[in-house]
Amino acid sequence: MEAQWREWARAARRPVAITGAGISVASGLPTIKREWRGVPLKEVFAKEMFERDPERFYECYREMLLDWREAVPNEAHRALARSGACVITQNFDGLHQKAGSERVLEIHGNLRELICLGCAALYPAHVAETNPLPHCPSCGELLKPNIVLEGEEVRHFATAVDWVGEADLLLVVGTKLDMQPVGGLPKICEEKGVPVIVCNKAAETVLPELFASR
Ligand SMILES: [Zn+2]
Repeated sequence: MEAQWREWARAARRPVAITGAGISVASGLPTIKREWRGVPLKEVFAKEMFERDPERFYECYREMLLDWREAVPNEAHRALARSGACVITQNFDGLHQKAGSERVLEIHGNLRELICLGCAALYPAHVAETNPLPHCPSCGELLKPNIVLEGEEVRHFATAVDWVGEADLLLVVGTKLDMQPVGGLPKICEEKGVPVIVCNKAAETVLPELFASR
């Protein structure tokens, strides 16, 4: 940890964190690099895959639900919750909320809901547990897990830009931010001279130390 980080963390009044899959690895959740039945998750979570073979997609989704139900937040999620940081997350595992973070933007959606492709009604994920291919009871259209697939637009991006624009410290945790438009967010801080901390290793020990006084 760089010496300056502690000082920045102590002084921050409006910290914002951008998080990715790396923060949930210590909670036992897979990154997109893992495979499901020989297929990289990255491919399973592509829009074409859902459109071509939604039943297969749902098989993978149901297995992910099992992992996700058992997953608990780790010390990195808890430290961010204690710090009071606003969290912009690329994860759909809900662990920031489980840890107690109050302001969380799920820019890639979440696993706990299904959304109707016809009328946009939301249903709880368990609807998919007994039904191989769930449809909307109200309009009859196919339901889709309420997550952003590869090839779809991220959500709440304007709000994310606002949050980052008001931050006095930006933390980038467990993500290389190699995807656009999210990858451009740190630049907003850099241009204003707002400090940016990038923590892609051992966040579950670094973050609790960083926010030890909160
Ligand atoms: Zn519907």
